[in-house]
Amino acid sequence: MKITNNSLELGTVKSIPIRIHWSFILIIAYVVYMQLKEGSDWIEALWAVLFVLSLFVCVTLHELGHAMAALRYGVRTRSITLYPIGGVAMLERIPEKPLHELVVAAAGPLVNVVIALLIGTYLWFSPIEYRLEDLATAIDANNFLLHFAGVNVMLVLFNILPAFPMDGGRIFRAFLAMNMDRVKATRIAMYVGQGMAVLFAIWGLQANPFLILIAVFIFLGAAQEYKMVRNTSYIHHHTVADAMMKSFTTVQTDSKLFDLMLLILNGQEKDFIVLHPDKQLAGLMTRDLLIRALSEHDKSVVIKPFVQYSTRSFNMDMPLADAYKIMQSENIPIVPIIMEGEIVGVINIENILEYIMFAETMQSA
Ligand SMILES: [Zn+2]
Repeated sequence: MKITNNSLELGTVKSIPIRIHWSFILIIAYVVYMQLKEGSDWIEALWAVLFVLSLFVCVTLHELGHAMAALRYGVRTRSITLYPIGGVAMLERIPEKPLHELVVAAAGPLVNVVIALLIGTYLWFSPIEYRLEDLATAIDANNFLLHFAGVNVMLVLFNILPAFPMDGGRIFRAFLAMNMDRVKATRIAMYVGQGMAVLFAIWGLQANPFLILIAVFIFLGAAQEYKMVRNTSYIHHHTVADAMMKSFTTVQTDSKLFDLMLLILNGQEKDFIVLHPDKQLAGLMTRDLLIRALSEHDKSVVIKPFVQYSTRSFNMDMPLADAYKIMQSENIPIVPIIMEGEIVGVINIENILEYIMFAETMQSA
C-alpha cells in the first residue's frame, strides 16, 4: 500500500489510482459516535459503518463514471480520491466543448441511477415485501439493500442540484455555454453555486456538519474555477514563449543551502531549476523548501535531499493557458522551457499572472 498526499492508495482501475484520504476515518468515527449517542448497540453501529463503506463504493463508481466519459474525449484522470464529503476525480483538464462537459458531468450521477434501478428492480421482484417507511428505520440485514438503493437516489438528487462546481452546476454551465461566452456562463454558474452553498450551510447548521464543509468547498471551488476560466480567456492565443523569463539562474544538486540563500538575497529570483552535475534536469528548489531545510540543517549541507524532483518541462510553442492550468493543478511553482535539449528559459506562476494582468489591461483599453 502506498501513501501519497495524506491518502492511502487502495488500487488502480484502468491505471487510475483510487485513493482514500486519512480524514475518511473521521466520518466512520462520527457515524459510530452518533449511533452510540442515539442508544444503538454495537451491532447496529456496525451495520451503519458497513453502510457508509458501501456508500463510498457507490461514490467511487460515480467518479469512475466521470473518468470513463472523460476518456472518450481523450481526457485522462490523474487520480480518484475519496474524502469524507465525497469523491474527487482529478481530470487532467475539463473538456471545453459544452456538450463534452455535459456528458462528462452527467456520467457520474448516471452511474447511481443505474445502481438504484438495478437494486430497485431486484427488490421489486423479491418475495420479501419492502415498504418505503423502512427507510426511516435503523439499518440492519433486512433493509440494507433498500437503504442502499435509497442512498443512490439521494446521491443523484444531491449531485444534480445546480451547485457549481458540483455535477449539476457543470451541467448548468454547459447548457449556458451553448448559448453564450464561456466566461459569462461560468460567472452565472458561480453565483448560482455560491447561493446554493449558503443554503447548504444554513441547512447544515441544523442537520449535519458535513453539509457545512461541502458548502465551503462549493463556495471556494466556484470562485477558484471562475478565476481560472476568466484568466485563461485572456491568454487564449498566447504561447509559453510570450511569458517566459530568459534570464534565470540554475543550481545543482551539489550546491549548498548557503549558495541558494545568497542567490535569493542578492537577486529577484526565489524559485530555481535544479540540475544534476551532468547538467540533466533534476527538479526545482523553492524558497519555502530552503527555509524548511535551514530550520533543521546547517547551511553548509548540500541541497540534494531537499530538492523537489520533477522532470516536467514545457516547450516554447505550448499554449500558455495549458501551461498555466498544469502549474496550478499540480502546484508546480516553476517549470523549465526546453528547446532541442537545452533549457532556454523558465516560467513561473507569478510571471503568468503578471502576463494575464497585462493582457487584461490591454484588452479592456
Ligand atoms: Zn460527480
